[in-house]
Amino acid sequence: MHIHSCLSPCGDLGMSPKTIVAKSREAGLDIIAVCDHNSSENVEATMRAGRMAGVNVLPGMEICSKEEVHVLALFGKLENALSMQAVVYAHLPGENDINLWGDQIIVNEKDEVMGENPHLLIGATELGLSDIVTHVHQLEGVCIASHIDRPAFGIISNLGFVPKQLGLDGVEVSWRMPIQTARETFSGIKDFSCITSSDAHYLEDIGKVWTGFILEAPTFEEIRLALTDKAGRRIEV
Ligand SMILES: [Zn+2]
Ligand SMILES: [Zn+2]
Repeated sequence: MHIHSCLSPCGDLGMSPKTIVAKSREAGLDIIAVCDHNSSENVEATMRAGRMAGVNVLPGMEICSKEEVHVLALFGKLENALSMQAVVYAHLPGENDINLWGDQIIVNEKDEVMGENPHLLIGATELGLSDIVTHVHQLEGVCIASHIDRPAFGIISNLGFVPKQLGLDGVEVSWRMPIQTARETFSGIKDFSCITSSDAHYLEDIGKVWTGFILEAPTFEEIRLALTDKAGRRIEV
């Protein structure tokens, strides 16, 4: 549910749509989400590459809030992800400096370079966490706090806890900490659905950890049900 492409300045240039889906298939993943920093511009190409390779690719984005907390926004429809991207771009100051932060490559489903994204994608937006959750929910998406166990850009390290009133749909624990350890370490997450993802920036990281979902089909709506533990759908890590 959290894979970066070559669009993220910190993502390896080898993280192209075709190679991401090929590696995901090799790792046995039925469904993945591409979540670049503050942008969904490589999602459509990866969805197309996924259709050819038999991997369902969800449109997503990893948004950096003004509190410098990372949250994953996942959507069922590409157009909703792109609507969220427009909101993010309108609140994302600065331009990328390739020499300082790295390339932000936009590619098509054949891995052909289409251009460079000029925004400062590594930066923080001017959107507060609650604004982000509200926008994502209005666009029928789900919001999951990223890598809550991490000292950098994690909700617990930056806010001290996971506020219930935010209405987050879940929390993500990084590959560095087993979910059971996270539940013991951060007692405040007991009421939240918990996933783990690779947060892959390099091909070899894809599938390093993954979340098992009990679903009828590998789709966004089924994942949404599993996050709420409804209709027999559930998370089974
Ligand atoms: Zn992050
Ligand atoms: Zn990430």
